[in-house]
Amino acid sequence: MTAPARDPFWWGPRLDREKEKSEYNMALCYYRTDTHERHALCGQASTQGVFCFLAGASRALPTLQRAFGAMRRRVCLALCLMTIGPWAAAAMSTEPQAMRRQVRITVVYNNVPLAPGLATAWGFAAVIETGDHTVLFDTGGDGRTLLANMQRLGIDPSSIDAVVLSHLHGDHTGGLNDFLDRHSNVTVYMPDSFPMPFRRSVERHGARVETVTKARRLFANLHSVGEMSDSIKEQALIIDTSEGLAVVTGCAHPGIVEIAEVARNYLNREIHLLMGGFHLLGHGENKLRGTVQALRNLGIHKVAPSHCTGDVAIALFREKWGSGFIEGGCGAIIEIP
Ligand SMILES: [Zn+2]
Ligand SMILES: [Zn+2]
Repeated sequence: MTAPARDPFWWGPRLDREKEKSEYNMALCYYRTDTHERHALCGQASTQGVFCFLAGASRALPTLQRAFGAMRRRVCLALCLMTIGPWAAAAMSTEPQAMRRQVRITVVYNNVPLAPGLATAWGFAAVIETGDHTVLFDTGGDGRTLLANMQRLGIDPSSIDAVVLSHLHGDHTGGLNDFLDRHSNVTVYMPDSFPMPFRRSVERHGARVETVTKARRLFANLHSVGEMSDSIKEQALIIDTSEGLAVVTGCAHPGIVEIAEVARNYLNREIHLLMGGFHLLGHGENKLRGTVQALRNLGIHKVAPSHCTGDVAIALFREKWGSGFIEGGCGAIIEIP
């Protein structure tokens, strides 16, 4: 009797030695041999068929034991992977998911009016909620207006985890002392060039100070473009969202195009939203159109200019971006899924 061909549909353990394969197949797939198949099909059990089967099975017994031992181990391993695999995959993906949760940006201080019932004054401040953290970016020109607007917008100062200051100008740092008087359990991220008395004042309130020089991650999905150099040193905030980067600028003294380029190149992702002060107030038409075109060339999805951008430039952004233009005045709420 010839050994039957190995069942091509057999998914069990792979046997390496030819002899083992042959015995294994003889016992397990015996019914496939011509002789036995005939008996099985017609239902006639012959002495020869039973003898052949028993002989094959007895020879194959040790092989079968080893094979089923290996198979049992494989089944156990497969079950473990099926149980642990999804859990491990979920655990591994926890951080990226947490890092790119829904982001909400609320403009709490601006000279550009938008929502009724809020006080407007020269300056800029925005509250950024990432689900895990709440950040105050800049503090406007005075604390009374800042805190009153926050209250009207339903934002509790004690919910703020960190303050990021763009640059030293009073229309961005003027509200800090009043804010820290109300809530000082925060880390204040400021450009490294800030003078020592400013740092000491923040520390006297009981807040922690972190200075920023180069582009870097501050925490979670929040990054800084770093202290960019101009006569006025300034940092902008980058939020790494599921839709792309959201870049928030204070006054953009180093140049709004330069800031956008640094942000995009640093994280190598497209900019979904560019918002804040673009510092284009008083720029001539040609320069303005050149700046807007340079930002268009960067493929920025949405823009929400305000503060020191100027009405003429804001109108041009509205025209060029169409549905991608977002009103960014005081009380604007921008959500990124
Ligand atoms: Zn400024
Ligand atoms: Zn400003």
